[in-house]
Amino acid sequence: MNKNIFRTCVAASSAAMSFGSLHYTANCKAVSISDPDGWVSPNCLVAQACRELKSESPSGYRKLCKVKSEFGWTMEKASVCGMQLKQHVGVYAGDAECFQSMAPMFDKVIMKYHNVDVNVNKAAEEKYEKVTLPALPEGAIASTRIRTARNVKSLPFTVNMTKKERLKLESMMKKVFAGFDNKYLKGSYHPMVGMPEADRVKYIDLHYLYINDDPTLELVGCYDDWPSGRGIFINENQEKGVFIVWVGEEDQLRIMAMAKGSDVQAVWDLFYSGVEAVHKGVKKQGDDFVFDEARGYLSSCPTNIGTGMRASVHVDLPGFPTKQSVKDYVNDPAFGGHYVDIRGTRGEATSTEGVRRYDVSNKARLGSDCVEQITTMVNGVKSLLEYKPPADELEAHVKTALEVVLANPKFAFFKADKSGKKEEILKKAIESLGATSHH
Ligand code: ADP
Ligand code: MG
Repeated sequence: MNKNIFRTCVAASSAAMSFGSLHYTANCKAVSISDPDGWVSPNCLVAQACRELKSESPSGYRKLCKVKSEFGWTMEKASVCGMQLKQHVGVYAGDAECFQSMAPMFDKVIMKYHNVDVNVNKAAEEKYEKVTLPALPEGAIASTRIRTARNVKSLPFTVNMTKKERLKLESMMKKVFAGFDNKYLKGSYHPMVGMPEADRVKYIDLHYLYINDDPTLELVGCYDDWPSGRGIFINENQEKGVFIVWVGEEDQLRIMAMAKGSDVQAVWDLFYSGVEAVHKGVKKQGDDFVFDEARGYLSSCPTNIGTGMRASVHVDLPGFPTKQSVKDYVNDPAFGGHYVDIRGTRGEATSTEGVRRYDVSNKARLGSDCVEQITTMVNGVKSLLEYKPPADELEAHVKTALEVVLANPKFAFFKADKSGKKEEILKKAIESLGATSHH
C-alpha cells in the first residue's frame, strides 16, 4: 500500500475512504467491486446480488461493472456503502436510469428486499382518488405520519448531484410551493442556507426537519455541498395537520403529513392532497415524477421504490424495554407476520433506547398499494399493543424502567428518600402502567 494512504488511514480511524477506484475501509482494508467476499458487509443484499451475478457469468459481471448510467453512476458508486460500512441493503441508485442499465443487480436486490419479481409486477400510478383507511387504536399513539419519496425526471438523485443541480431542484420547488392554492397546504419554504440555528433546532425537535447525521448517506454522497439546495416547506394553517416537503435529502423530495394522535385518515387526506399538488406543480414546470411500470416510483434506495410510502406511528409500548425486543417479537409467530419496520423515534439512524416509544411503520412498498400497506401497519400496531409480557418479564421491565427514571437528575429526589417510600410509589406506578397497557 502507498505510504501516504497508509498514514491517512491511520489518522482517520473512523472514516472509510476512496482513492480513484481503490476503496479503503476504516481499518485500511482494500476492497473492490470485483470481490464482494472482501467487503465490510459481504452479506448485505447488494453483495449477495453481486456474488450471484459473478458466479452466474463472470464476464457478464465484469461488463456490468463498466456500465455508466445516464448521469454517470457506476456499480462501484452504487455499492460503496456495502463495500465500506456495516449494511443490510448497501446500495443506492444515482439516477432513475440505473434501474435499467444496472437492472441485473438492482432487480436481484429488489427481489430480496420486496420479494417481488419485476418481470411480472405491475405498479400503479397514484390517481389521487378518495380512499378509506382502517382506524388505528386510540390512546397509546402519540403521533401519526405518512411520507413518500419522489424524484423528478430531469435531474439525477441527490446522492449524485452537482451543486448546480441541487440549486436547480430547489428553485424548481420554490415555484411549485408558490403555486399551491389549497389553504391547508399553503405555507413557506425555509432554505437550510441561512436558517437561524434556533429555528433549525426547533424544527428538529418537532420532528419536522431532517439532519445530516447518517454515515451511510454521507459516504454515498447525499450530504455533498451541504447545506446548499436543501430546505423544508411547512404549511401555515395546521388545522388539518402539518404538511411538509423535504427538499434535497435522501430523495429529491420527501412529501409528508403528520399530526398528533392516531387519526390516520385525516393524515392521509392531507398527505394525498399534498402529493397531488406537488405533482401538478412539477408537471406545470414541464417535468414529472420518475415512475416505472414494474418498479413504481423510483428512489435512490431500492427499499423505497414502489409507492415510496412509509406510514408510521410513534407508539408507547411499555411492555418492550428496547427496540430490539420489539424487533424480536415482530419475528415471533405470536405477532402474526405483519410486515412492519421498527425504528427509534428520532429517525432511522439515531438511538433512543430506554424510551419505550417506538416508530412502527409498513415495511412493504412494492407489490401492494398504499391502502394495503397502511392496513398492514395498523394491524401490526394492534398486535403490538395486545402483547402481554409474562409476569417475570414484567418484573424485569419494571426494574429497567426504574433505572431509566432514577438515572434522570430530575428524579434524583426519589433516590434521596432513604425510607424507600418514594421509590416504592414509583415502582407501583410503572407496574400499573405496564399492566393497564395490556387491556
Ligand atoms: P423517513 O426517512 O422514512 O421519513 P426517518 O426514520 O428518517 O423517516 O425519520 C424522519 C423524521 O420523521 C424523524 O425526525 C422522525 O422522528 C420523524 N417521524 C417519523 N415518524 C413519525 C411519527 N409517526 N410522528 C412524529 N414524527 C415522526
Ligand atoms: Mg430517513
